[in-house]
Amino acid sequence: LITMDNVSKSFGALQVLKGITLAVNRSEVVCLIGPSGSGKSTLLRCINFLEPYDAGEVRIEGRLVGYTESFPRRRQSNRELRDLRRNVGMVFQHFNLWPHMTALENVREALVQVRKMSLAQATARAEEVLTRVGLSDRMHVHPARLSGGQQQRVAIARVVAMEPHVMLFDEPTSALDPELVGEVLQVMRDLATEGMTMVVVTHEMGFAANVADRVAFLDGGRIVACGPPRAVFHESPEPRLRQFLQTYH
Ligand code: ATP
Ligand code: MG
Repeated sequence: LITMDNVSKSFGALQVLKGITLAVNRSEVVCLIGPSGSGKSTLLRCINFLEPYDAGEVRIEGRLVGYTESFPRRRQSNRELRDLRRNVGMVFQHFNLWPHMTALENVREALVQVRKMSLAQATARAEEVLTRVGLSDRMHVHPARLSGGQQQRVAIARVVAMEPHVMLFDEPTSALDPELVGEVLQVMRDLATEGMTMVVVTHEMGFAANVADRVAFLDGGRIVACGPPRAVFHESPEPRLRQFLQTYH
């Protein structure tokens, strides 16, 4: 579903991604782990071209991302990009909900504005998705009156409602108080069980171990280890990975 082939990216003189090759299959969950500054967020942002990459290529469902097929170093138009991003949902560390809208209105907004659904249809979809993330009793509440975990679940519901083919998560639980992390991870686990294709940057090693089909360890802009969780967590001899994992014990 996603293929990254030898993708490189620099910010000025700093090369942040050094030839990333990674394929994510349909319904697969891939967790990206690695130290701060290793390029995890940049990698994720290259997938939907929030960050333009310099070399290599990214494809989603076979379509080249960010550049035109016939002139591979010419940028796609905004419309082509928008079209492509329609199938890619992204969830950030900070939930970015509209403060003046209720949970329901937050989820419904893009369905009406972007998907051009009728208000009735959009309301029904928003209610259904909010119920799935366990917020049926909080739908008419504004973000300020929701806990961080509830806010993140609204943010996830907002993305899920758009029926993306793949979801990208950048540290979705790292802004949360520890006791609220579990409820968000549970929602993500449910999505994985339902077959959602997911790429998740996370420091939650338990989640990576239990939910990921594969774990990729990034260090210094390279994927240093990648494979099933058991292989990466227990069998890889890679010293930088061993050292990184020690900070979690
Ligand atoms: P963290 O775990 O702290 O979120 P990360 O693995 O997500 O780290 P990135 O955010 O991808 O790392 O950053 C990789 C490197 O690129 C860092 O050295 C960062 O300072 C640099 N960088 C990221 N974005 C920019 C930018 N817009 N301009 C310049 N440098 C940047
Ligand atoms: Mg990051």
